[in-house]
Amino acid sequence: MITRRTLIRNAAASSAALMLPQTVWANAAMTIGTMQIDTLSDGQLTLPPAMTFGDLPATELAPILQQYGIAPDQTLTPDCNVTLVRDGERTILFDVGAGPDFMSSAGKLAEAFDALGVSADEITHVVFTHAHPDHLWGLLDDFDDPVFPNATYLIGKAEWDYWINPNTVDTIDTGRTTFAVGAKRRLETLEDNITFFNDGEEIFPNIAARGTFGHTPGHMAFQLGAGTDSVMILGDCIGNHHVAFARPDWASGSDQDADLGIKTRTMLLDQLAAEQMHLIGFHLPYPGIGRAEKQGDNYVFVPA
Ligand SMILES: [Zn+2]
Repeated sequence: MITRRTLIRNAAASSAALMLPQTVWANAAMTIGTMQIDTLSDGQLTLPPAMTFGDLPATELAPILQQYGIAPDQTLTPDCNVTLVRDGERTILFDVGAGPDFMSSAGKLAEAFDALGVSADEITHVVFTHAHPDHLWGLLDDFDDPVFPNATYLIGKAEWDYWINPNTVDTIDTGRTTFAVGAKRRLETLEDNITFFNDGEEIFPNIAARGTFGHTPGHMAFQLGAGTDSVMILGDCIGNHHVAFARPDWASGSDQDADLGIKTRTMLLDQLAAEQMHLIGFHLPYPGIGRAEKQGDNYVFVPA
């Protein structure tokens, strides 16, 4: 069940002062069984278009971008949607946002918590989809202290093994060296407080991990609930609302293994559309909640 709730807009004056696009810290809520689900905005990424569109066939790409009102050479500012699940004694956060050290347009999660009236102290569990900066670096504050002091942490075993490996900084493509250094440093702070899980495991009642590898080696999505009353927290395995849906068979520049990313995205979209399951995408337009609908051979994102 989905209900759109409060929309809290930042005063134009304060966002102008920060030279940021107007930011919406709104939350939209849905419930599944006893689970209350909200998405919180961590702000936006600021990406050069080449990163997303650089290797795609220009003539086929143009009409798709036009359909979504995107110029091929414009800076992209995808939203970052962190998911909060409250269920009885558990208050679970899926990813922690970018924190203070990644991009000035992201790392706004504290403001979203304020808007929602939830305190970081209340988080009992943090679950990671993957360890890219915009999902992990919000773990620590400006002083390198933990932002969620009362939380225990969970991550897919393969994802942990990849980023904690001291060789990853040498084997990762050079454009992502800082990702490797930043992930290892932050994950090391969790070494005594982390639980691992694998594909298919039920990590909490009614929450199952789903191996969705390709974007990163151990990327995980999470299915909450079952049947028609369910939602999939996607993380980044379907990374935008335009080309990822319109041409899931195209390589994504943000996937570390592009071929595996295609396989994962195609399989997942097929299932999401067939079962009409709700989805929450980390980089889909805020609040990131909707469905995938089949359109010809491909798909469209339908916001909830
Ligand atoms: Zn991301």
